[in-house]
Amino acid sequence: MSDIVKVALIGNPNTGKTSVFNQLTGLRQKVGNYPGITVEKKMGNCKLPNGAKALILDLPGTYSLNTTSIDESVVVELLLNKRSPDFPDVAVVVTDVENLKRNLLLFTQIKDLQIPAILVINMADRMARKGITMDLSLLEEKLDTKIALVSTRKGTGITRLKSLIAGYANLSDKPLLDSRKIAPEYFEKLAETFPQENLYKLWLVITQDVNFSLVEKDEFKDASLFPAKSKLEIKKLQHKETIKRYQFINDVMNQTYKVDPAAAKGLRASLDRVLTHKVFGYVIFFSILLLIFQAIFDWSQYPMDFIDVQFANASEWIKNTLPPGVFTNLLAEGILAGIGGIVIFIPQIAFLFLFISLLEESGYMSRVVFLMDRLMKPFGLSGKSVVPLISGTACAIPAVMATRNIENWKERLITILVTPFTTCSARLPVYLIIIALVIPPGRFLGFSYQALTLMLLYLLGFAAAILSAMILNKILKIRGRSFFVIEMPGYKIPLFRNVIYTVVEKTKSFVVGAGKIILAISIVLWFLGSNGSSEEFKNAEEIVTQRIESEGYSAYSNAYMENKLEEYKSSQQAGDNEPLNVISSRITQDSINRKSKELEEAAVSQENASYRLEHSYIGYLGKGIEPLVKPLGYDWKIGIAILTSFAAREVFVGTLATIYSVGNDEEETIKNRMAAEINPRTKQPLFNLASGISLMLFYAFAMQCMSTLAIVQRETNSWRWPLLQLSFMSTFAYFVAFIAYQLLQ
Ligand code: GDP
Ligand code: MG
Repeated sequence: MSDIVKVALIGNPNTGKTSVFNQLTGLRQKVGNYPGITVEKKMGNCKLPNGAKALILDLPGTYSLNTTSIDESVVVELLLNKRSPDFPDVAVVVTDVENLKRNLLLFTQIKDLQIPAILVINMADRMARKGITMDLSLLEEKLDTKIALVSTRKGTGITRLKSLIAGYANLSDKPLLDSRKIAPEYFEKLAETFPQENLYKLWLVITQDVNFSLVEKDEFKDASLFPAKSKLEIKKLQHKETIKRYQFINDVMNQTYKVDPAAAKGLRASLDRVLTHKVFGYVIFFSILLLIFQAIFDWSQYPMDFIDVQFANASEWIKNTLPPGVFTNLLAEGILAGIGGIVIFIPQIAFLFLFISLLEESGYMSRVVFLMDRLMKPFGLSGKSVVPLISGTACAIPAVMATRNIENWKERLITILVTPFTTCSARLPVYLIIIALVIPPGRFLGFSYQALTLMLLYLLGFAAAILSAMILNKILKIRGRSFFVIEMPGYKIPLFRNVIYTVVEKTKSFVVGAGKIILAISIVLWFLGSNGSSEEFKNAEEIVTQRIESEGYSAYSNAYMENKLEEYKSSQQAGDNEPLNVISSRITQDSINRKSKELEEAAVSQENASYRLEHSYIGYLGKGIEPLVKPLGYDWKIGIAILTSFAAREVFVGTLATIYSVGNDEEETIKNRMAAEINPRTKQPLFNLASGISLMLFYAFAMQCMSTLAIVQRETNSWRWPLLQLSFMSTFAYFVAFIAYQLLQ
């Protein structure tokens, strides 16, 4: 035995396991996943009073050891597998003082597995208000265990819990109930066949539908093949087992646990009535959603802009300080841009999870589930899917992460898969510029066509999400949980510490988990966009400079001169009336020369960027896919922009600005340049109604976002789902865009 005590926190959902975990481990925690499935696995270290160390494992919430979900299987698989590296030396069963009776069912099962168990009765701070009193020493005796009465909120009882863990070797490991009573004859035979095994464990091996490839088979010498019982018989016996357990628990509780009914009820009931009301319930919920939405959409704009500027400055600084070369470019444009692309999401993630954990912590989220479940269930979604779907309109990254609190894996997966259809803010720049180009300015019933188009695009996103959820619900064959009861927890003032932990942990898991992939893809895209093997690419600077010099820069100086004069004139007309000749005289030939030189240099560097992009690897890829995008009404330039905007949709406009070599701060100019583009085949403007609609539909449906890809990989713990999603969404987008273009042109 090692000198590190392995502790597993087990208990019903919402009893405070995670809060106890946080109290024990502080920030010394690590979040991962169980192998192969997407159940979160949290581990952390804790120093015990006797100097020893404990490794704490926060297990998923489970109602009993009769599993109905993947989460619960994780617990059973672990408790049945002595050889698992995580197998606990001691189980800490966390219960909620208000729901002790229901919580104890699981406790008796764990005791019967003969795993040393400590009972934590949590939320002690609520006893007085609820009029609860307990005889703890009698309870310890009856349950043959040690009890820590804890309030993670007040921080009480944690020291006792730690010393109980330190002294775990003194705990009794006798079973509480006699398993034979479930089915005397059957168990008799079991006992004869496997004399040295724990009977209750054998029973679980035989009855539980869990993945026993993880359990050492020979430990049971194929107990699972023991004279089969029909499913129906097993169900019956499990039922009988539950009744026996509750008889025992009732008996114990009657002697040790009292509630003074006068202290309960009141405020909670009236709050519940309002919050789950058929009208007010929705009004309140949607107002809260609006607030959340505002936070991730608007409030995070300031920190995001700040981050953006900082990274731009850092990149500038690196380019100016380090010797020019491949390494500097990689650092300044590849790596730094990639990291910037990760860090930029932090404000949105933090805001969203701040709100979500407030909703969960306060107990309001359970009301939302109650309220919205009826609406969402027919689509294969959960009541909790509303939050991700709505926050997806700001950004799919935090939205996909927000699906974590949907317990049912199937509902969660469907929500993850459809969320990227909702119109996120990165689509907005693409939509806005194309709408301005191709949608005529007229009005319909007082609404402008342009505004209507934008609204239609939003609705289209939601419709696509809902419809694909319905389809996925039909075709995905995944075991779901059939909740028979959802208990409404009491209302609580959110615990500041828990909220902070959640925010920090989500942000960390995004940065560390999805960040790697985002960084890798940005570096690949950067490499493809800033490298090339052709002669044109290598000699870009010379070719462009020559071309501009041969055209002469008089064009630039004349234009500049006219502009400047106009500016002076209008500014003077507004203010004091300086004579025109004075103004003209102030513009010396010298300043004109200087300015035109500057303009020429800017033109060279813009043209150069454009030329290099065109002849880079990604440029050739863009030209390569031209035959593919031609039927959608696009040319190779748009092809390049589609490729680069896989980094993020809004990159589309920036790429076109580079290709058309316009300065990227002058939106009017890029719009004019786009409007002037001619499709060589049709001799019509390249951006017309048909190609414009086709392009907007493409961006509406395609998963043009590497960060979403990365976060879905991280959240589903596999490449299968994100890649399926990517190929489905891209194919779908392609066909819709194709049909739209062919119909409209
Ligand atoms: P888990 O689902 O078992 O991991 O439970 P959590 O740790 O997430 O806690 C569920 C809810 O109970 C949260 O809203 C906590 O703030 C709340 N909670 C946890 N411990 C206490 C406590 O000691 N007192 C009170 N009043 N609330 C608590
Ligand atoms: Mg938890």
